[in-house]
Amino acid sequence: MDHTVTALPAFNDNYIWAISAPNSRYVVLVDPGCAETCINYIEQNQLTLVAILITHHHYDHVDGIKALINYYSQQTINVYTPAKENIPCATTKMHDGDVINIDELSLKLSVIEVPGHTLGHIAYYNNQLLFCGDTLFSGGCGRLFEGSAVQMYQSLQKLCCLNDDTLVYCAHEYTLANLTFALTVEPDNFALITYYDSVKQLRATKKSSIPTTIKQEKAINPFLRCEQTTIHQQAEAYLHKSLSSPIEVFAAIREWKNNF
Ligand SMILES: [Zn+2]
Repeated sequence: MDHTVTALPAFNDNYIWAISAPNSRYVVLVDPGCAETCINYIEQNQLTLVAILITHHHYDHVDGIKALINYYSQQTINVYTPAKENIPCATTKMHDGDVINIDELSLKLSVIEVPGHTLGHIAYYNNQLLFCGDTLFSGGCGRLFEGSAVQMYQSLQKLCCLNDDTLVYCAHEYTLANLTFALTVEPDNFALITYYDSVKQLRATKKSSIPTTIKQEKAINPFLRCEQTTIHQQAEAYLHKSLSSPIEVFAAIREWKNNF
């Protein structure tokens, strides 16, 4: 079955993702931080909520869960959550390698643990789709609130191994700000310059820059390109010391971005 993924904008720059399918009345929500946004969408499209997928415990990803479960109390709604984090209303705790089958939508997703932004952070993926929360953004990556640079680097490397054409549904519209930083770190990257222009046009009319793809991110995202000579040199110039590995480069540019 072909799935449709719809962005439900919430708060300033969050995207709650709604997964549905043509000729089906069922819907799955990813990271419903705001119940009202979700209920409006579900009612307008006369859908039935069957499952909620959570990537990590931050309020802007989980705060709508309780109200949704209460509002749809006559229905069975599975709430899939990271095994290593406490999430309200969790029904199924997910570990690395676990598989979810949502029969109503013929939707199968695997779980990959991606610690870094938070320690229990997980992502959901299949050959076509990736829901990665606040781990990988277009042109950037999540802040290291709980995990180490090594953990985040390794998590991003795992995502780089996915099929190039995988559509990447991250949880925030941070792309333009991320690309401004990326151009500072890697000013000679032609793919990045081109992408920046196209995102700037999209955002001028408030259009979403998401989804991106794994292939696109490998071409333009500095946090996936730490082995590139230009980025390595720029990171060394920022810290005024020599760096000996892509992980050190990653840690340097993550810190640089925090202060950018
Ligand atoms: Zn977060």
